[in-house]
Amino acid sequence: MNHAFVFMGGTFDPVHNGHLRTALEIQQWLDVPQVSLIPSKQPVHRDAPGCTSEQRLAMVDAAVADEPSLRADAREVTSDKPSYTLLTLQGLREELGAATPICMVMGMDAYLTLPGWHQWLEFLDYAHIIVVARPGYHFEPDETMQGFTRAHRVNDTATLLSKPAGHVLIHEMTPLGISATQVRQLVTDGYSPRYLIPDPVWAYIQDNNLYGYTTN
Ligand code: ATP
Ligand code: MG
Repeated sequence: MNHAFVFMGGTFDPVHNGHLRTALEIQQWLDVPQVSLIPSKQPVHRDAPGCTSEQRLAMVDAAVADEPSLRADAREVTSDKPSYTLLTLQGLREELGAATPICMVMGMDAYLTLPGWHQWLEFLDYAHIIVVARPGYHFEPDETMQGFTRAHRVNDTATLLSKPAGHVLIHEMTPLGISATQVRQLVTDGYSPRYLIPDPVWAYIQDNNLYGYTTN
């Protein structure tokens, strides 16, 4: 078993089996005890009906309740600061000490948008980045992301975990073509999202009338 803090950040609006399956595969592949899911605090502006950060956290809690390899992490939702990735990474580094590897897991879609993230060039000072394939998103990096990837990429988990931070690893995993957008749309249109999300998350959506869910 390897010692590292591995996490996946996201809106999780709502969490779905694409997130959960990815997190579990990464946990098994890196041979670490747990992967943490960290919902962001900031409400994302959307046209469709959304929900609060507390509700998004509650759905992640419900989704991982019976899976010991996954945990929900409330640090961004309960923070009084905005959800900047760099702040989260700095907080984690402070908490875990200089030697513990920290791995941030993200889908290819998110990875390709990194140059738009606040102070993104500093992320690798604090953590590694693990990129996972996602249907519909091929690795077609622009010049910036090509250079960044070439400079930091390694190809095996042993090299990655031999250092606390600084590398990029691209993992070809079994991708599930599920998105939260698709889940919200189904619920809004009056269809069941069953089998795309865990049943407890679907129950929570129904109980709280999220995404425009109504009984009639
Ligand atoms: P939305 O459709 O609202 O954008 P989403 O399904 O993309 O939601 P996010 O919360 O935006 O979910 O994603 C959080 C992280 O999970 C991102 O790094 C994203 O790339 C990754 N991710 C989301 N869906 C999948 C999936 N099906 N397979 C692998 N990674 C995924
Ligand atoms: Mg997304």
